[in-house]
Order: sequence, then structure tokens, then C-alpha cells
Amino acid sequence: MPPASSFSDLALCPELQFTLQQLGYSQPTPIQLKAIPQVLAGEDLLAEAQTGTGKTASFALPIIEKLSKTAPDKNYRDIRALVLVPTRELAIQVADNTLEYGKALGMRVISIYGGVRVDNQIRKMKRGADILVATPGRLLDLLQQKALHLNKLQFLVLDEADRMLDLGFIDPIQRIMDYAAEPRQTLLFTATADDSVEVLAEFYLNNPKKIKVSPRNSTAHQVRQFAYGVDNADKSDVLTYLIKEGKWGQTLVFARTKKRVDLLTEYLQHEGINAGALHGDKTQRERIRMLDEFVAGDLHVLVATDVAARGLDIEALPQVVNYDLPNVPEAYVHRIGRTGRAGETGEAISLVAPAEREFLVRIEKLIKQKVKLRPVPRIENGKMIESDPIADQPLKKRKKVQSKRGKRPLTEKYERDDSKKSVRPSLFSK
Ligand code: AMP
Repeated sequence: MPPASSFSDLALCPELQFTLQQLGYSQPTPIQLKAIPQVLAGEDLLAEAQTGTGKTASFALPIIEKLSKTAPDKNYRDIRALVLVPTRELAIQVADNTLEYGKALGMRVISIYGGVRVDNQIRKMKRGADILVATPGRLLDLLQQKALHLNKLQFLVLDEADRMLDLGFIDPIQRIMDYAAEPRQTLLFTATADDSVEVLAEFYLNNPKKIKVSPRNSTAHQVRQFAYGVDNADKSDVLTYLIKEGKWGQTLVFARTKKRVDLLTEYLQHEGINAGALHGDKTQRERIRMLDEFVAGDLHVLVATDVAARGLDIEALPQVVNYDLPNVPEAYVHRIGRTGRAGETGEAISLVAPAEREFLVRIEKLIKQKVKLRPVPRIENGKMIESDPIADQPLKKRKKVQSKRGKRPLTEKYERDDSKKSVRPSLFSK
């Protein structure tokens, strides 16, 4: 049989095909072409794919397909698929997408994560869920409180496994595994397959099929990236200077919070710049008006939060500014992906306060590229005169979250035959 090349070649039911059509997905992405048949065939998977490659659909579609064959008719839904993710943002995003994919088949999808009241999340779980998307810490909490069970689990996805390990989630992951029913199908997605991920795969995957797709996350070459070291209090001043003296055209600016979006917008307006704010507190009508004006070129600067700017499709903006660096490195890639599209060159400018330097390091790691931190440039006749990079200063070491990991090594549950393996990363060693 020739390999699949379109969604109709993949053995997905008519409801899913319809949903994909509605979403405007005309072609499967490479990871979807590789992963979907394997998951449908019941294989465990070790997949190297980054956010932005369509990986969510690559596991969610076949899982939904398989779950839909035995849809429960009772009111309480046992959790049959669990997706573990490193962050709250990703939990929300993956759950939103999965809900969308499974809507036509009546899938109940719920996300739970830390940072919000636990009783609200327990309430959310009252009627159960077919698919649960969760961050490890909060899930473990709820399992220990017996607010939910994984004894009917059929699918387990470890999404962004490398980041979960980086964030020290190995301990909760191990404990969660004790609650998870077996046999089950386990899928591991990772941006990089380093030694610790390999070890995780070895313990929890059963003879996995290995697949890999090239990253879409490496930032477009035609985007020139700049990072300027600025004190937080000077950011609005610096941005005004850059926009005015640099004679910038249409500019999209990202700030961290709604409040910062509003304050900055007011400041720019006060400085005579035609700026508008886009964030979650604006009515739908206000947002649409703002976007229309921006797209039409009537609004010079649009200041937005990440959430408000999601799905915003503006072609080839000349300038995207990170007024605040995102603490989730993938958000940086999404943000700057809005410039330099369609073969145009664009510039991504980040204003980096001392407290944000750590975020810059994480971004560089993700994009596998150095973005040299420089002083704010002088501008002469609309031309930016760059100075030498600011020397790297040692960053305060982040507290290692996995400090407890030695307490309960995997060997308790699984007998490891070390004689067969030459590489044993430090992650699991005492
Ligand atoms: P992900 O890597 O799962 O975060 O997906 C990145 C983005 O690609 C999401 O906004 C998806 O909605 C979108 N997407 C996923 N699969 C496809 C597809 N086959 N065609 C078009 N868009 C897609």
C-alpha cells in the first residue's frame, strides 16, 4: 500500500474527516502522517516533534478515533486518555484543540493544572472526562485526594516530555504511573531526544516506534532578531523612541498582562502614537474593530497579550516587539512568526529587563540560536546604530525542582538490567 498523503488516506471516521474539513486542515502535517497510522495500529510511540508541527492532532485524532469505538453511555465518564503536559498554558491549548477535534464525537475533554483553586478543579471532574489534559503536580494532588482515578486508562501521552523533565516533574510523573492502568498505549512527544528522555521512554514505553520530524520551531531566517537590555521602568520610553526615531511602520507589541497592555497603550497615545490595545477584557466587537483598523493600516501600533493575539493572521508585519519576554519560550516563536512572513524580511525586537534574562536564555535554547543582548541602539536618520553586545553575566541558578528525585528511584518498580545499557544519564541515578 502506498504511504498516506492526505487525511482521507488515514483511517479516520467520517466525523473526524468532517471536523478537519471544518477546521480548514486540508493536508496532514508530516508528524500527523507518521504518527496517526502508528497510534491507530496500537503502537507505543517515541516522537521527536516540536510545538507548531501539528503534534497535538497527531495524537489526539487517533486517540479520539479509537475511543469513539467504545463510547461510554453512562453519565460519569472514566478517564480513558491522559495527556501530561509541562505547563498550564499548554494544558489549556492542548485541551482546547482536543475538544475541538472530538466535538462531533461527543468527547468530554477537561484540563486541570496548578495555580488555580483545587476545589474548582475537583468540581470540573465531577462527571469525569474521556480525555484529561493535566500538569503532573496538580494531577498527582487530585489522585492522592481520590478526586479522580486512572484505573480505566487506555492511552497515556507524555507531551513535551523533555520540558517536563527540565521542570523537575520526574517525581510526580513516576507517582502518577502507579495510578495508571496497564496495559495501555503510551506516546511520548519531545522536542529533543536527549539521554533523560530516552531513559524515560525505556521505562514507560513498550517497544516504541520512533519517529522524527524536522522542527518548524526554528525561527524563520528572514526574521532578524534583536534583544535590548532595558530597565523595566524605561521600557515605554525606549519603545516610543524606537518607533518614532526608527520611523517604524505597522508594529505589533506583546506585553505580559492586560494591565501592562493598557498602561503602555495609554503612554504611546500620550506620546502622539496611534496605538490600540487588544486583550481578553475587550469585547468581541472592540477586538474586531481594533484588528480591522490595524490590518487596514489605520492603527500604527497594536499592543496585545499572547492570548488576545492567538490566531491573529496578519501577513508580513515589519516589526514585532516583545515589550515583555514571554516566560514560555514557545510563545516567543509564535510571536515573532508574525513578522517576516511570505518571504518578506521582518524584525523581532525584545526589550529585556534584568529579571527577564533567564527567559532569553531559555528562548535561545529552544530556537538553537543566540540572540545577543545589546544596549538600546542610537538612531541616526532613521537608522539604528547597534553597539557591542552586553557581556554575559552569570544568571542566578534556578532552584532544582528535581532535588527529591533520588528518593524514589524507578528501580523500585522496574528491575533494570544495567549491564545492557551503556548510557545511564544522571537523571535517575542517585
Ligand atoms: P501544534 O503543533 O499541535 O501546537 O499545532 C500547531 C497549529 O497547527 C495549531 O494551531 C493547529 O490548529 C494547526 N494545525 C494542526 N494540524 C494542522 C493541519 N493538518 N493543517 C493546518 N493546520 C494544522
